[in-house]
Amino acid sequence: MKKVQKPRKPLIVYYLIVLAVLIVFNFIVFPMMTRGNIEEVDYGTFLTMVDEKQVSKVQLEGETIYFTDKSETPRQYETTRFEDPDLVNRLQESGCEFGRVAEEQMNPFLSMLLSLVIPIVVFIVIGQILSRQLMKKMGEGSGGPFMQFGKSNAKMYVQSETGITFNDVAGEDEAKELLTEIVDFLHNPQKYQEIGAICPKGALLVGPPGTGKTLLAKAVAGEAGVPFFSISGSEFVEMFVGMGASKVRDLFKQANEKAPCIVFIDEIDTIGKKRDSQGFAGNDEREQTLNQLLTEMDGFDASKGVVILAATNRPDTLDPALLRPGRFDRRIPVELPDLKGREEILKVHAKKIKVGDDVDFGAIARAASGASGAELANMVNEAALRAVRENRKFVTQSDLEESIEVVIAGYQKKNKVLSTKEKLIVAYHEIGHALVAALQTNSAPVTKITIIPRTSGALGYTMQVDEEERNLMSKEELANKIATLTGGRCAEELVFGSVTTGASNDIEQATKLARAMITRFGMSDRFGMVALETQANPYLGGDSSLSCSPETATQIDDMVVDTVKEAYDKAMALLRENQGKLHELAKYLYEKETITGEEFMNILTQKSLPDEEQKPVETSDNANID
Ligand code: ADP
Ligand code: MG
Ligand code: ZN
Repeated sequence: MKKVQKPRKPLIVYYLIVLAVLIVFNFIVFPMMTRGNIEEVDYGTFLTMVDEKQVSKVQLEGETIYFTDKSETPRQYETTRFEDPDLVNRLQESGCEFGRVAEEQMNPFLSMLLSLVIPIVVFIVIGQILSRQLMKKMGEGSGGPFMQFGKSNAKMYVQSETGITFNDVAGEDEAKELLTEIVDFLHNPQKYQEIGAICPKGALLVGPPGTGKTLLAKAVAGEAGVPFFSISGSEFVEMFVGMGASKVRDLFKQANEKAPCIVFIDEIDTIGKKRDSQGFAGNDEREQTLNQLLTEMDGFDASKGVVILAATNRPDTLDPALLRPGRFDRRIPVELPDLKGREEILKVHAKKIKVGDDVDFGAIARAASGASGAELANMVNEAALRAVRENRKFVTQSDLEESIEVVIAGYQKKNKVLSTKEKLIVAYHEIGHALVAALQTNSAPVTKITIIPRTSGALGYTMQVDEEERNLMSKEELANKIATLTGGRCAEELVFGSVTTGASNDIEQATKLARAMITRFGMSDRFGMVALETQANPYLGGDSSLSCSPETATQIDDMVVDTVKEAYDKAMALLRENQGKLHELAKYLYEKETITGEEFMNILTQKSLPDEEQKPVETSDNANID
C-alpha cells in the first residue's frame, strides 16, 4: 500500500549545508586569505638567508618552517625542512629569534570571526530550523523526521493494489447493493446532481465481528477506482492530548485534496463512544478527537465527492451525534450470513484451494449454522491443512466436516486419556443429550456424537443440525432445547446415581435460554410481553442488564429455576422410559467413540435387546464426584 506523504527536506540536509560551508571556509578560504602574503621558498634559499643573517624570526612547525626577513617591512616566507640535526645551532649562531610567525600575521578580525561569530550563527540557524519544523507539525500535523505525532498515518489504497472486489465478498447482498450506490455516485456524480439527490456523506457498516465489514470497505476501494484512505479508530488514540484531533484534521485535509475519494475509519467505536460526564480524565482526549471528527464531517462539502465509511461492531455505544443525518446517515447492516450466504462464502474461499468432487457445500453450510464469514474462511483453510497433513492432493467432505468441529470445539486431544469410568460417564452424558433431543418433537436431528476430547475442554459433544435455516423458535422448541441441554446431566444421575462437573456448560446455556424466555421473549404467563432486560450489545453477545424492580428480579429468578427444573423433570422422564436404549446406545458410543446420526437413529428405532444385555458396568464407587 502506498503511503501518502508530503515531500519535505529532512533536517539532515540543513546540517550538511552548514558543514559544507564550514569545510570550505576552513580549508580553502581562510588558508588563501592568510597565505596570500606568504612566499614559498626552497630549503637551500632559506639556509643561504640564515647564513647571510637576513632572517629575523623563525617558527618551526614539524616539517614546515615559517620565517621573516629583516627588511623594513618584514615579509613572510615558508619552506619545507629536510633532515638537518644542526639546524637549531645554525639558527642560533646567525642570531635568529624563535617565535610565532604565521599567526601573528593573521587578521585579528578573521580570528574573532572564526572563534566566536560563526559558532553562534550556526547555533542560531539550527535552532531556527528546528523550531520552525516543530511549529509546523504542531500546527497542521505534517511530518518531519523527529516528531510525527500529528500525522494521520492513513494508508491510501488504490484500486489496483487491493485487488479485492465485490466478487470476493459473498452473501452480503444488501450491503453490497447499498455500497454500490456510493461507488456509482463517485463515478457519475452528475447523474445524481441532475435530479437533485445528495449522496450520503457517510455510511456505517455495523455487524458482528468477522462478517466482512473491513473486507467490504476494501472491496469498495477496489471497485470505486478512487483514492481510498484507511485508518483504524485506535490509531487516533495518542499519548499526547490534542494529537488525536490533529490527526483527524490531517486526514480530512488529505481527503479534501484528493477528492473524489473514500475515507474508511475501521473500529470507529474506539473514538466514537458516547460522551458522558462520568468518565475519567483520560476521556478528554477521546472527546476532543470525536468533536474534531464531528466538525470535520459537517465542514466538508459532500458534492465534492468525499465519502466516509466506518465500521463497528458496537453501534449501541456510538455517540448519537455521529449517527444523525448529515454524518453517518446510512447504516449498512452486515449480519451473520444465512444458509445461502454461508454456502457462497465457503465457495468463494474454496476457489483458492483444491476441492474433491464429493464436497457438498450445502451440507457444510447447514452444519456450520451461526458461523461468521471469518470462521467459514478459517474452516476452509483448516480443511486444506488437514488434507495436506494426510497427504492428499485435494480437500474432501470429511476434511470440511472435521474442520467445522475444529473451529467450534478445537482440535482433537489425542493424548488426553480418560479413565474407563470417566469415558463411560461422558458416553452416557452425550447419549442423554441425543436421546432427549430425538425423543422430542421439534428438535433438530442429531448428526454426530463423539466422546473424543477436544482442546476447547469439551470431553465430548452431540451435534445437532437443522434441516433448514431457522429464524424463529417457538416456546415449545425453546423448552425442548432446554430439556435437551439438561439431558446429559439426567443420564448421569439416572445411571450412576450421582452427578459430575461435566455439565457446567449445559447449565450455563440452559439458564441463559430460560432467562431470555422470561425477560426478553415474553414467554412467561406471569409477565407476558414485558421487556425486563435489555441487551447492551447485540453483536458481541452477553451483557444484558435487568431493568426491573428487585422484587421482580427475585420472581424472575424463581421462574428461571422452575423452567429449568421442569425441563429437567421432562428429560428425566423421557430417559427413564427409554432406559434400555440409553444403555444400548451408550455402550455403542463407548466402544466406537464417534457415531453418526444415522447409526444413532438405527439403534434407536431397532427393536430393543433383552434387558440384561443392556446393563452398564457397575460403577458404584463414584458417589463423590460432583
Ligand atoms: P470484520 O471487519 O467484519 O470483523 P473482516 O472483514 O475482517 O471482518 O473479515 C475477516 C475475514 O473473513 C475476511 O478477510 C474474509 O477472508 C472472511 N470473510 C468475512 N466475511 C466474508 C464474506 N462475506 N465473504 C467472503 N469472505 C468473508
Ligand atoms: Mg474489521
Ligand atoms: Zn452436556
